[in-house]
Amino acid sequence: MNENWKIETRAVQCGYTPGNGDPRVLPLYQSTTFKYDDAQSVADLFDLKRDGFFYTRLANPTVDAFEKRMAALEGGVAAVAVSSGQTATMLSMLNLASAGDHILAVSSLYGGSVSLLTNTFQKMGIEVSFVRPHDDSATVAAAIRPNTKAIFAEALANPALVVLDIERFAGIAHAAGIPLIVDNTFPTPCLCRPFEHGADIVTHSTSKYADGHAQCVGGIIIEKGGFNWKNGKFPGLCEPDPAYHGLVYTDNFAACPYSVKLRAQFIRDMGVPMAPFNAFLTNLGLETLPLRMERHSRNALAMAEFLEAHPKVSWVNYPGLASSPEHEMARKYLPDGASGVLCFGVKGGKAAGERVMNSLRLAAIVVHVADVRTCVLHPASMTHRQLTDAELEAAGVSPDMIRLSVGIENIDDLKADFDQALANA
Ligand SMILES: *Cc1c(COP(=O)(O)O)cnc(C)c1O
Repeated sequence: MNENWKIETRAVQCGYTPGNGDPRVLPLYQSTTFKYDDAQSVADLFDLKRDGFFYTRLANPTVDAFEKRMAALEGGVAAVAVSSGQTATMLSMLNLASAGDHILAVSSLYGGSVSLLTNTFQKMGIEVSFVRPHDDSATVAAAIRPNTKAIFAEALANPALVVLDIERFAGIAHAAGIPLIVDNTFPTPCLCRPFEHGADIVTHSTSKYADGHAQCVGGIIIEKGGFNWKNGKFPGLCEPDPAYHGLVYTDNFAACPYSVKLRAQFIRDMGVPMAPFNAFLTNLGLETLPLRMERHSRNALAMAEFLEAHPKVSWVNYPGLASSPEHEMARKYLPDGASGVLCFGVKGGKAAGERVMNSLRLAAIVVHVADVRTCVLHPASMTHRQLTDAELEAAGVSPDMIRLSVGIENIDDLKADFDQALANA
């Protein structure tokens, strides 16, 4: 890879470099296992003494190429693809925190992340507390405890659409000797690269824009590289691992110790890799990601302006709108477009909103977001249904909120569909 390549070039050129006479396009290695001529080679692979593939639960050439492409897009040193975005969120933190530790999270989160943090992590003995995205820095710093292992936040919150001040949160995390983990699912590396603003780990639900065609559930965890894991807070990374005959991740894999530990311990033991076929399809999705994000962002801004001017609409939330309280943050962190998701409410509240959703002909009601086809969803009764009222409020979800994921269709057709549906409000 040429380090100067821009994102559009990386999206189609990185990850897989064919040799003379090799397939031009990344092949699908639909194979569980890999053949070796001698036993010692396989033993060395088991000991992490050499690179290579031996069993697809741990690594597979198609998945590996996809990981390298995602790492190149985000500007990280390594990536680990996993079975879903939920897995990515979970393992990004389990790789650092175990029973007795604490995670600090920013409250404007995807509903599944809230459930994971407040229910499942608590049961595992990992404490989690929350701060608000706009809390002042002293409040955030005061919420960090001696046993806090990371701050977790979304770059562009689903569905609250709060734009994270990544530099500010990275500064607070680093002052405490802990990494900032950013879920960059909504902006994608085409619109925001959290590492350039100080984040240390980036996660994605690749089920969203990365795939882009609503075909594959998947996730990925990407490491920036260069974090000082030897500051006394992360013995799991810099003390001998008995599972690998005393190997020390920060010594033996100094460039990407976090990623090697994640794969060697969690992908191996929990068995949650991305399937090769999903990596193959999602990798194809990445090739058009820069083009799609341009169109998604342009269409979403046009829809936000259209809805804002519509007499039946009571409010619109889109960080790209000049009227948005997030607009200043969006100009800093999302200068090329604010992605394809917006939220709005209809005059008459939840019932009127439901009538509008039911009247849409082109836009479909689906539990998804971020694919090429426009769709709508009602977070309070769907994705965020399990949350309490207080959690809903903290996540930025109001009862009347409709989440609109704007696709890449012609904008005139989209406006016409919402115009006819709003007539039924
Ligand atoms: C969808 C989503 C997830 C969860 O991803 P899955 O692939 O559905 O498991 C996590 N974070 C964000 C921001 C999401 O939108």
